[in-house]
Amino acid sequence: ATPTSIMVGTGKAAEMGVLFRKGDALQTLQEVEVVALDKTGTLTEGRPRLTDLSVGEAFDEFDVLKLAAAVEDHSEHPIARAIVDAAQSRQLHLPPVRDFEAVAGYGVRAAADGREVAVGADRFMERLGIDLRAHAVEAAKLAREGKTPFYVAVDDTVAAVMAVSDPIKPSSVATVRALHDLGLRVAMITGDNRKTAEAIARELGIEQVLAEVLPHEKAEAVARLQQDGHKVAFVGDGINDAPALAQSDVGLAIGSGTDIAIEAADVVLMSGDLNGITNAIALSKATLDNIK
Ligand code: ADP
Ligand code: MG
Repeated sequence: ATPTSIMVGTGKAAEMGVLFRKGDALQTLQEVEVVALDKTGTLTEGRPRLTDLSVGEAFDEFDVLKLAAAVEDHSEHPIARAIVDAAQSRQLHLPPVRDFEAVAGYGVRAAADGREVAVGADRFMERLGIDLRAHAVEAAKLAREGKTPFYVAVDDTVAAVMAVSDPIKPSSVATVRALHDLGLRVAMITGDNRKTAEAIARELGIEQVLAEVLPHEKAEAVARLQQDGHKVAFVGDGINDAPALAQSDVGLAIGSGTDIAIEAADVVLMSGDLNGITNAIALSKATLDNIK
């Protein structure tokens, strides 16, 4: 492509709220065969709400929520915010915590009110040696509803099974359909539970799911999609997405996302609206067709 046509193309893109940080991305985009998207905050709003809370017989609902929120108050994770919000709306007073530890992709733990409290995914509980067998059916049911189930353990016993739900963005369904209409393959990459991810993928018509991907494995997941020379665009918003954005052939960051994601991206979608992805690809094809 000539420098002029690229300039015109990126100018048009800017009018549509799609910012090309690197000119050659316009060219690479039309060669893309697979579009992989992060789930939380990209396909979904990224603002999960606590929807389910089922406590064990030996525990009081408010006590468990209070302990979980006290620990999560020290975490930046979207699930953490959902729990703290739920505790605050019930006007619970959060006790101070000691020895806080966050394990990326797993969960958080600390001591609160003289008890050992852990909050996180099934793999976190397994790592702590906590038996989940009695709760597997319930967790699977929540996951099939597209919710993210997680556990609260108090002194090495499961005190509650909880779930959060994160609404799908209105623009996600139409974007996936438009990408398919352009003949592209669509994949989702997420750290979330496999069943949850599959339920959401089904709702969106996404055909490939890479779930339970640890934060440091996201770039590897993109590399796997690139096997056999496929050109892959990755769309993400979080700090964890930066390596995947860098690994992909074209990285697209959500403009409302973290600065670190934006820095690592070739293209920035100025609004949270995913239609920008389709616009960018269509524009890339149109610009290069004009040149031929
Ligand atoms: P993603 O951002 O793709 O949902 P993460 O890698 O951040 O994935 O987290 C993966 C899973 O680990 C979450 O779905 C959740 O079950 C668990 N997890 C991580 N951090 C926390 C936390 N602070 N509180 C509760 N669960 C957590
Ligand atoms: Mg995200």
